Amino acid sequence: MEYRRLGHTDIKVSVLCLGTMTWGEQNSEAEAHAQLDYAVAQGINFIDTAEMYPVPPRPETQGRTETYIGTWLRARGRRDDIILATKVTGPGNGIKHIRDGRTRFTEPVIREALEGSLRRLQTDYVDLYQLHWPDRRTNFFGQLGYTPMEEKEPPHIEETLTALARLVEEGKVRYIGLSNESPWGVMSFLAAAERLGLPRVVSIQNPYNLLNRSFEIGLAEVSHREQVGLLAYSPLAFGMLTGKYLDGARPAGSRITLYSRFTRYLKEEGQRATAEYVRLAREHGLSPAQMALAFVTSRPFVTSNIIGATSMEQLAENVASLDVALLDEVLAGIEAIHTCQPNPCP
Ligand code: NAP
Repeated sequence: MEYRRLGHTDIKVSVLCLGTMTWGEQNSEAEAHAQLDYAVAQGINFIDTAEMYPVPPRPETQGRTETYIGTWLRARGRRDDIILATKVTGPGNGIKHIRDGRTRFTEPVIREALEGSLRRLQTDYVDLYQLHWPDRRTNFFGQLGYTPMEEKEPPHIEETLTALARLVEEGKVRYIGLSNESPWGVMSFLAAAERLGLPRVVSIQNPYNLLNRSFEIGLAEVSHREQVGLLAYSPLAFGMLTGKYLDGARPAGSRITLYSRFTRYLKEEGQRATAEYVRLAREHGLSPAQMALAFVTSRPFVTSNIIGATSMEQLAENVASLDVALLDEVLAGIEAIHTCQPNPCP
């Protein structure tokens, strides 16, 4: 396993991070624990979760994912060997069941969210506490263009950062990070930290995969110059890049078959590009999933690639992507497809 530094901290995280958002929905507690045991045995020390999980978010299941991680941490007693990341839910996105929809990032909201996570996780600190998505009107979750929108209140980044800083001071949070953010958002948090002498954000967790490389446009430079590395989520575009949904196939029990709301990676152009990436992988004797994962892990602005799996076979295949080095001709093939079909599923 390779380890990379998390932002400016002295924490070294594994280049693969174990995603957890299927636990409590597609996966049981026993399966979650088996995934954790396997991942840790393979050298993964980084786990990503959220108070909102599992996905799709539902009132009946909310918090289960953290609960399963908590029971595992308690049973194995290895808390200090793990770099544990979780997130506070932002406003909107159809989520009313968390704090009755009170999700603007004020101190009481963030504090209440963190206390809930700590209780479920059976720990007294998280290593990385992330804002799940911005609480201002901006373009994320697949929205490509930016249209200035009326806002009830202006962004309140200093207030949010001050609230997070208190939790750091109290020892409940070691470091803070952003998710689904824009270059303006990251730079604003960094500028506020500088102005007020408060903690800097150390990471940004955004989507990044062969069908959506929009991170490269504005954020890759921010990552590099400001030491705010990418924690890449959905590296397989919800499983699409394995090729298993091509030609209208809908394998039983898989995410896109089960949940009709997940349309982000189903666009016609995305399917055309996927067919090309799958063809390229097979031409070079590679598994399409491993090629897609190796591409993400090998990008210089990536701190860790957040993999997700619903079976042990998938998890083993994904972890083994670390053994795949992409040859120059494969990388050239990827660039050729990307040039013809850039970011078909932003
Ligand atoms: P992904 O890699 O795009 O998709 C993972 C899914 O693809 C698996 O659950 C599995 O689903 C399928 N799959 C994985 N490996 C496979 C293989 N080798 N062969 C065939 N199918 C395979 O990642 P993701 O689950 O969307 O995201 C990973 C993690 O990132 C999440 O758990 C979460 O921690 C984080 N995340 C964060 C955000 C955010 O807003 N910050 C958003 C999304 C995700 P099926 O078995 O159902 O097909």
